[in-house]
Amino acid sequence: MTTNLQAYRGSLLHFLADPAFSDESHPSHAWHEDGLLIVADGKVQAAGDYATLHATLPPNTVVHDYSGKLLMPGFIDTHVHYPQTDMIASPAEGLLPWLETYTFPTERQFEDTAHAANVAEFFLDELLRCGTTTAMVYCTVHPQSVDAFFTASEQRGLRMVAGKVMMDRNCPDFLRDTAESGARDTETLIQRWHKRGRALYAITPRFAPTSTERQLQLAGELAAAYPDTFIQTHVSENEAECAWVRELFPNSRSYIDVYDSYGMMRPRAMYGHCIWLNERDRQRMAETQSAAAICPTSNLFLGSGLFDFERADDAGVLLSLATDVGGGTSFSMLQTMNEAYKVARLKGSYLPALRMFYLATLGAARSMQLEGTIGNFAVGAEADFIVVDPQATPLLQRRTARGESLEELLFALALLGDDRAIAATYSAGRQVHVRETT
Ligand SMILES: [Zn+2]
Repeated sequence: MTTNLQAYRGSLLHFLADPAFSDESHPSHAWHEDGLLIVADGKVQAAGDYATLHATLPPNTVVHDYSGKLLMPGFIDTHVHYPQTDMIASPAEGLLPWLETYTFPTERQFEDTAHAANVAEFFLDELLRCGTTTAMVYCTVHPQSVDAFFTASEQRGLRMVAGKVMMDRNCPDFLRDTAESGARDTETLIQRWHKRGRALYAITPRFAPTSTERQLQLAGELAAAYPDTFIQTHVSENEAECAWVRELFPNSRSYIDVYDSYGMMRPRAMYGHCIWLNERDRQRMAETQSAAAICPTSNLFLGSGLFDFERADDAGVLLSLATDVGGGTSFSMLQTMNEAYKVARLKGSYLPALRMFYLATLGAARSMQLEGTIGNFAVGAEADFIVVDPQATPLLQRRTARGESLEELLFALALLGDDRAIAATYSAGRQVHVRETT
C-alpha cells in the first residue's frame, strides 16, 4: 500500500499541557518558528523543526510552503446549535424570551429534511472558514435534523459530535417528543451514527426545564448503556433559569445536581455555560470529569453572566471554549477568545493568549476525552489543522509586525482576528477550506 505523504512548512504551534498548570520542566506547548508538519494518510507523522525533519522526507515529496504563517491544530467549538445559524444576531431581552420568540419557531423548520440539509451545509462551510474542525453540535428534536447534519459532515470527512435534542415539556407542541420517543429515537441514532467514520453521538437533553424527570432518567440510562457516547446540555446559564429549575426540581441540591442524580455527570459530559455554580458543583464536575463549555459571546449577548475562570481552575474543572451560536454572536473561535479575555478581566482574573489557544484546541480535546485523536500534533493524531495568517488584515499586519513574543502574536490574533485570519483549513490531511484572496 502506498502512503499518501504531505508536508507543510510554516511556524508550528501546538500544545502539550495546560499553560495554567505547567512550568519549565513540563512545557505547555511546542513552537517551531520554521517548522514542518508531515502528514501520512490523514494522520500526523511528525511535527518539528524544518531543518531537522526536512532531511527525513523521501525525495520528491512536495512541501507546501506556508512560511510567514502559523500552522496549528484546528479549533474545537464544544457547544453550538447548527439549527440556529439563521437566527444569529436576533434581538431579545434575555434567554427565555429569546427562546420563545426566535429559537422555537426557527427550530420547527427542521422537520423538513431538505431545509436541515441546506442549513447543515452552510453551517459547516462557516465553521471551516473560521478554522473550526470539530464541534459539539445540538440538532433539533427531529431525528432527521441529526441525519441531515451527519450526512453533510460525513461527506466532508469531519470529526463531529452531534445529537438530537430531547425535550418533552415546557416547549411548544411542535417541538415536543415524549420521554419514551425521545429515548427510542436517541438510541436509534446512536446505533446509526456513533463511531461511523468520524461521527460521534451526544445524548442531548436541551436543559433540565424542558425535560420531565422520566426523560432525564431515560437519558441517564442511555448514557450508562453507551458509556463512550457524549452527553451535552445546558446548566446554570442565567439566574431566572436557575430559579425556574429550583421550582421544578425542589429536591435537588442544585441545578447541576439534577443531572448528577440521573447519572449524567461522567467523562464525555459537556455542560454549556456553568456560570451560576457553587463550590460543591465545581467539585462534582472535577470528580466526575464532566467538562464546561464556556460561551462568552453568548453570555455577554444575552446578559447571562460572567464565567469564573479562577474558581473553575481552583476546583480543577475541565475547560473549553465555545461559540453557542445562535446565542453566541460569532462562529469564530478567535472572536470567542476576544470576549473570553474580557469576561476574565471583569471577574478580576487574567487569561493569557497561550491559555486561550490551548482551551480552543488541546483543552477541548481533553475535555472530550479525545486527546491523541484531535487537538494537537501528537504522532498518530488526526491531521486537522489550520493555517493562520498574521497579516490577514492591514491592522493585523501592522500590529503583528511589532509583536516581540509568541504571546503578543497570539494575543493580537485573538483580539483582532476572525475568519479572515484563517488562510486554509485541513481535515484529516485534506484541504477543506481556502480563503479567497482579492
Ligand atoms: Zn446553547
